[in-house]
Amino acid sequence: MRLVLLFLLSAQAFAGGLDRYAQLVVSDSSRTARNGVRVTYLGTNGYQFEFKGRALLVDPYFSRVDLLSVAVDSRIQPNAFRINDGLRHLASYPDAVLVTHGHFDHLLDVPLIMARTRARLIASASSVDLAKRAGASSGDPVKPGDVRRIGPWTIRVLPAKHDRLFGKVPFDRPAARVNMPHRAADWNCGEPLAFLIEVNGQRIYIDSGGTPERLNATLERLQPRYILPSHQDNFFRPLKAGFQFGPLTDFSRVQRECAQQNRSRLILLDYFKPWTLLKAAGSKSQNPKPETD
Ligand SMILES: [Zn+2]
Repeated sequence: MRLVLLFLLSAQAFAGGLDRYAQLVVSDSSRTARNGVRVTYLGTNGYQFEFKGRALLVDPYFSRVDLLSVAVDSRIQPNAFRINDGLRHLASYPDAVLVTHGHFDHLLDVPLIMARTRARLIASASSVDLAKRAGASSGDPVKPGDVRRIGPWTIRVLPAKHDRLFGKVPFDRPAARVNMPHRAADWNCGEPLAFLIEVNGQRIYIDSGGTPERLNATLERLQPRYILPSHQDNFFRPLKAGFQFGPLTDFSRVQRECAQQNRSRLILLDYFKPWTLLKAAGSKSQNPKPETD
């Protein structure tokens, strides 16, 4: 059985929408069978996974704080209007929200989303602490090696390494414990995590803050069936503006790296356009096995 790799990358200047890459964009049609695992992309590193009426969220972020507020270190807060708008596209009661690390574009909206959906938070101890200080009622702190089984989902927690921007991990210093996080820099990275989600005999690997340098080695090792690079979009623009590649992404490099992997298919998803992950033809087993097939 092959797995799907959702990879977070950032590198250099690029812009434009998805139109240029129409051949890479996948989504369900009216004929798609609905009995597989359904993936909905929420922008940034955000996903909803659905299976048999159950749902799981990863890094849901709808507020999309503007670049200026981050650049001048002004006060940022979740945008309830945008969050409600985003949640309208999703299942009402997800089983859990998984968060890969504490940066605002992964965790800022989570306390409010938890309040709206009653989903439990699964994240590193530092991210749980940050979420609680921002109003989350609870949280399940996990570390690499931990496993959580919730409904149809088996969630394995793996170590990750956050990408460096201009030589350092952004917002890396520990936040002061007393305060509620107010500024982008207060949403510090903490321990970055990756998750391996097993469901329906399929495996979905979600990395956190991966670098283009690591992409090749990761692909060699995992040989996934599909690769969906996340964080390619400009997350300083509202979701309503549509998918635009971000100024710090290098999608052509991602394409080059993926082209060397002839067992993997590079795909893109548009916001809120679900795609059902069908089982590979000849997939023999329902039981997940390590690595490939
Ligand atoms: Zn980050």
